[in-house]
Amino acid sequence: MSVNLLDYDAAGLAALFAEHGEKPFRARQVLRWIHRFGRSDFDAMSDIAKSLREKLKAVASVIPPTIVSDKLSDDGTRKFLFDVGGGNAVETVFIPEDDRGTLCISTQAGCALDCSFCSTGKQGFNRNLTVAEIIGQLWQAERALETGLKDERIVSNVVLMGMGEPLANFESTVTALRLMLDDNAYGLSRRRVTVSTSGLVPAMDRLGEECPVALAVSLHAPNDRLRNELVPINQKYPLGELMAACNRYLQYAPRDFVTFEYVMLDGVNDADSQAYELLDLTRKVSCKINLIPFNPFPGSPYRRSPAYRIRRFAEVLMNAGVVTTTRKTRGDDIDAACGQLAGQVLDRTRRSARRIIDLHEVTR
Ligand code: SAH
Ligand code: SF4
Repeated sequence: MSVNLLDYDAAGLAALFAEHGEKPFRARQVLRWIHRFGRSDFDAMSDIAKSLREKLKAVASVIPPTIVSDKLSDDGTRKFLFDVGGGNAVETVFIPEDDRGTLCISTQAGCALDCSFCSTGKQGFNRNLTVAEIIGQLWQAERALETGLKDERIVSNVVLMGMGEPLANFESTVTALRLMLDDNAYGLSRRRVTVSTSGLVPAMDRLGEECPVALAVSLHAPNDRLRNELVPINQKYPLGELMAACNRYLQYAPRDFVTFEYVMLDGVNDADSQAYELLDLTRKVSCKINLIPFNPFPGSPYRRSPAYRIRRFAEVLMNAGVVTTTRKTRGDDIDAACGQLAGQVLDRTRRSARRIIDLHEVTR
C-alpha cells in the first residue's frame, strides 16, 4: 500500500526514509518540494536522483483532500469545502485583510463537545481528521490562492478555529502544527498560528510542553452555571481549573496573553453584570477578550446580541483596562462565519440567490 507523505512531519519523514535506507537530507528535500513548493508529482522534484524518484513513485504518494466547492464572498472571504470520504466534508475559510491572510482550518469532521450555540457541534462527531487532511487544507489553499508571485505566501496566519476541537485530535493536530512551523514547510512563526480550544485542560498542558503556539480559549460564560449549559465540557473542566491551565500555558506560550473568545448571545450572556463577572473571573490571567457576534444557523435557539449591547459589553471590559476586540463577521453570505461551518455538501440555507460565486462551478 502506498503511504501518503502529507501524513508526515520532518521527523516522521526522516524516519520513513531511514526505513528505506535513505539519508535524512533526502527527506528534507522532499518535504520542501511538497510543502514549500506545493508539488505532489515526484517527477517535478528535480534535485532528487531519478532512482529515488522511481522508488518514491512505487511506495508513496501525496494526496490532499479534494476540494468539492470553492466559494467567494462579497467581502473577499473564501470558503473551501473538502471531501474527506465516507460522506464527510469539512470546511476551510480564508480571510484576507490588509496586513495578513488568515486561514481557518478544521481538525475534525463534526465535534463531540456539543456546545449549544455551534452548528458543528449540532451535527455530532464523525471522526478525527488525519494529518494529511489537516495540513492538506493549507496545502490546497496555498495552491488555490496562488498569485504567481515567487516566494509569496498568501496565508500568513493559521487559526485552528474551523470544525472540531483541535485538542481532542491531539496527535494529528500537533504533527500538522509542526509542519506549519517548519522552515522547510510553511515557516509560520508560533505567534501566527493559533489553536482555539473549548478548554480541554490536560491537553492544554501537553500542547504547552510539546508545541506551544498562540492560544485562544472559548469561554462564552463568566460562571460555571451558565458555562455548563453553553459549553458542556465545562462540567469536566470547570472555570477554576481552566483559568489555572491558562496561566500554566502562558509559561510556554509565544505570546504573553491568552485570547478569550466570548460569543454574544442576546439575553443569555451579554448583560453588564456578566461583563463585570467576566472581569472578575479573568483578573488573574493575562488576556485579551474577543467578542464574537453570534452567527445563527438553521434551528439555532439563540439570537445575536444587538450591536449596542456588544458595544456596551466591550466598554465595560475596556474601561477596566482589558484589551477587547469585536470580531467582524466575515463571509456570512456564504455561511463561512464562525460557528456556521457544518461541512455540508448541499447549500442548506439556499442563499444562492445572493451573489455567491461558486468558483468550482465556474471553472469546471
Ligand atoms: N472547538 C474549538 C475551535 C472551533 S470553534 C473551540 O470551540 O474553540 C471556533 C470558535 O467559534 C469558538 O470560539 C466557538 O465557540 C465559536 N463559535 C461556535 N459557534 C458559533 C456561532 N454560532 N457563532 C459565533 N461563534 C461561534
Ligand atoms: Fe466543538 Fe468548538 Fe463547536 Fe464546541 S464550539 S461544539 S468545541 S467546534
